[in-house]
Amino acid sequence: MKEVKSPKKPLLYYYCIVLLIIFLFNILVTPLLTRNQVTEVDYGTFMDMIEAEDIGLVQVEDSRILFTDKAETQVYQTGPMEDPTLTERLHDAGARFERVIEEPASPLLTWFLTIILPILIFIGLGQYMSRKLMNQAGGKNAMSFGMGKSSAKVYVPSTQGIRFSDVAGEDEAKESLQEIVDYLHNPEKYTQAGASMPKGILLVGPPGTGKTMLAKAVAGEASVPFFSISGSEFVEMFVGMGASKVRDLFRQAKEKAPCIVFIDEIDAIGQKRSSGGVYGGNDEREQTLNQLLTEMDGFEGNTGVIILAATNRPESLDPALTRPGRFDRRVPVELPDLKGREAILKVHAKKIRTAEDVNFHTVARMAAGASGAELANIINEAALRAVRSGRTIVNQSDLEESIEVVIAGYQKKNAVLSDQEKRVVAYHEIGHALVAAKQTNSAPVQKITIIPRTSGALGYTMQVETGDKYLMTKEEIENKIATFTGGRAAEEVAFGQITTGASNDIEQATKLARAMITRYGMSEEFDMVAMETVQNQYLGGDTSLACSADTQKEIDRKVVELVKRQHEKARKLLEDNREQLDRLAGFLYERETITGEEFMEILNGGSKQ
Ligand code: ADP
Ligand code: ZN
Repeated sequence: MKEVKSPKKPLLYYYCIVLLIIFLFNILVTPLLTRNQVTEVDYGTFMDMIEAEDIGLVQVEDSRILFTDKAETQVYQTGPMEDPTLTERLHDAGARFERVIEEPASPLLTWFLTIILPILIFIGLGQYMSRKLMNQAGGKNAMSFGMGKSSAKVYVPSTQGIRFSDVAGEDEAKESLQEIVDYLHNPEKYTQAGASMPKGILLVGPPGTGKTMLAKAVAGEASVPFFSISGSEFVEMFVGMGASKVRDLFRQAKEKAPCIVFIDEIDAIGQKRSSGGVYGGNDEREQTLNQLLTEMDGFEGNTGVIILAATNRPESLDPALTRPGRFDRRVPVELPDLKGREAILKVHAKKIRTAEDVNFHTVARMAAGASGAELANIINEAALRAVRSGRTIVNQSDLEESIEVVIAGYQKKNAVLSDQEKRVVAYHEIGHALVAAKQTNSAPVQKITIIPRTSGALGYTMQVETGDKYLMTKEEIENKIATFTGGRAAEEVAFGQITTGASNDIEQATKLARAMITRYGMSEEFDMVAMETVQNQYLGGDTSLACSADTQKEIDRKVVELVKRQHEKARKLLEDNREQLDRLAGFLYERETITGEEFMEILNGGSKQ
């Protein structure tokens, strides 16, 4: 893909232009004025013409001789020669002649042209630029001239764009972005329905998972221009430049709309602002962020400018950025699962020559936890390996060996799951899902995966929300608690060992159990007495206790009892269905991601695997 970086225009650039103009003026215009009608001839012709007495005016200069024919209709020129008898012969030929002491070009004029004029132009330009900047940055940067004024954008002509098909896997992300593409294709469809597109979309995921690629693909699919800038570029600028860059970027984007603006590493500017400013904070960053917010609020949803931003630390973003009307849509771009890894490997393997026996499935399996960028790297490393051993075709062992090279680097920092851990996580997640399914007799989940998440969770069970639900029965809450304990229960049943993987479940289960007693009036002992009150529903629902120390003790005891009972129930359920538990966990371990349908199929005795 070709990217055309618009050149930054430092002052040197303008200076060069000025010099070029002067240079061109000298070699083109001056000769035109003076030498226009002069014919260059050799000295012999000159002598012949004297001989033939066909000579009129003669001017002898230091560097040339100018002369005319007798009728003075044509001016000739020739170089001077050592010719002592010239004067005599000219006299004989009846020519009018004179020696001209070449007047050096007026020193004043030379001085003006080469020194004063460039300086004048230079100052003029400087003033023009700074005035422009003053307008842009509110008069702050009059001193920095034009430096960095134009935003360091990347503009990818849409015809050369990446398409969704170039991005392997990531089907869910592509699906969510498809709507944007559709909107850019027919904005009328949306405006007619009164719908406005989200202005900002946050692509959230670990590095190297293809966020940039996806953003480019949206532009490519919709055939619209693509502007890209990295958050860190905004803050690396001189003081005050970040804000003016943002303004400039949006101005350009609005001119080119419909278009995609991609801000990589948005956390570099979008981090939570220091609240009190006691420690000064990073003023520059805050100004840039404020400008970004102002710009985003300043244009309507349907101008056709869509901003995609990437981050791998969504939790560190300033809440102002994620408020409705700004980056209010979030598209997770997670690490690829087994199928995704295989697909990515195949995409990149198209660029190299591989042996017949190469098995990408095996390679993908071995590279558990690798990101798209790392997989691309594995392919490249394998090709290098092949070259090193004098081959042009990459074979299986090249690929397998390079996994270690590439992955060894990141294994330490990323803590990729070991095989045994992966097995434990598979049982844990299936434990949740199976307990849920056994209690409700319906598909409990949409998706179960043991690909580590951006959030830090090792596995993830995506619950189906069956419509809005405002009321929950006591039994439903109890079942939910049992489901939370199901993960740990599965570990106990399968391995007779417990791990730290259940900490979040424990928190959730405790919260629910506590609320049952203190807020929902669902216990015999306390009946409908509020033991806790919600302080502020909108600010995270903090609660405060409203009971005596004795009662608190009693509540704690009650909570433990409640959770314990559900935990027992979950364990019993899994023990009774041990065979299904093993089958499902084995399947998840193999596949790394399974859908709710696959889950139900195996549960109901289907013979998958
Ligand atoms: P991010 O922006 O998430 O850090 P990039 O989009 O820059 O990641 O991806 C880096 C490189 O990794 C890409 O240029 C591409 O070669 C490779 N890559 C990542 N994800 C994929 C994918 N899903 N399919 C194909 N290649 C990928
Ligand atoms: Zn769990």
